[in-house]
Amino acid sequence: MDIHTDPIEMQTLCRSIRRKGRTIGFVPTMGALHEGHFSLIRQARAVADICAVSIFVNPAQFGPSEDYAKYPRPFEKDCDAAGREGCDLLFAPKSSDMYPENYLTRVAVIDITSRLCGASRPGHFRGVTTIVLKLFNIVQPDYAVFGQKDAQQAIVIQRMIDDLHVPVTIVVAPTVREPGGLAVSSRNAYLTKSERDDVPRIYQALHLVEQAFEKGERSAQSLKSFLESRFAEARFFRPEYCEIVDTTLLKPLDHIKTTALVAVACRTTESGTRLIDNVVLGALKEE
Ligand code: AMP
Repeated sequence: MDIHTDPIEMQTLCRSIRRKGRTIGFVPTMGALHEGHFSLIRQARAVADICAVSIFVNPAQFGPSEDYAKYPRPFEKDCDAAGREGCDLLFAPKSSDMYPENYLTRVAVIDITSRLCGASRPGHFRGVTTIVLKLFNIVQPDYAVFGQKDAQQAIVIQRMIDDLHVPVTIVVAPTVREPGGLAVSSRNAYLTKSERDDVPRIYQALHLVEQAFEKGERSAQSLKSFLESRFAEARFFRPEYCEIVDTTLLKPLDHIKTTALVAVACRTTESGTRLIDNVVLGALKEE
């Protein structure tokens, strides 16, 4: 596995790979790699000739009171894991090379970025779309793989790609979960013991909503009230939002005709960790 830190060097290398007619599958990450990231790397390998992974804790997507400084950065361990999982090219730029002095450009998708997580994280998605477009311009991938875990992020990036005619195909990979159902996340490392025992309720409640939908419930209000009643029983986290929305514009639904995104964000009470999760109702199930 080749490791690059310089954006221009990485761009030159990726351009030469594509000139040789080889395709690139790209997985952007913030590091602290886990099973969720590994599943994305496997997807990238399955669709493209070369697998590129970036590790960059992007300051532009963190709010002033968020965990940018304490976000885990186990770089050596990540390099070993990425290589083991079959990454060919690792790109780990310095913040000062991505946002040098006099940097002034932002890329913003409007409207859908102020809903769900955007409501409590102003500027977050603008930071995400800015860094993702920069990374796409450096890596020039044919495919980019994102996780369903961050459903709104994947929808926002797809919107940017469609709106700006970015020549990249997005692949969305299913959420990888712990045996109890908790979505694997780098932020799970912050959880206290009591919180860890309590947070599997998040997916358990989402799964019950899925089951109610499969049994024929189509009222979004009933499903939402049910979800909220399950969360009311939690002792070590509080929901920040529970929403049932359409999968394109993220607008709240009354009645579910075909598909719906059920998205939740919770804040734990001891460590103050913010966890998100979601399920898509009415989607074709994978075998
Ligand atoms: P992050 O490093 O948290 O920015 O995540 C990088 C990518 O990994 C994003 O596309 C996430 O959606 C994806 N990801 C994170 N956790 C999971 C998970 N449990 N299952 C699948 N994908 C994930």
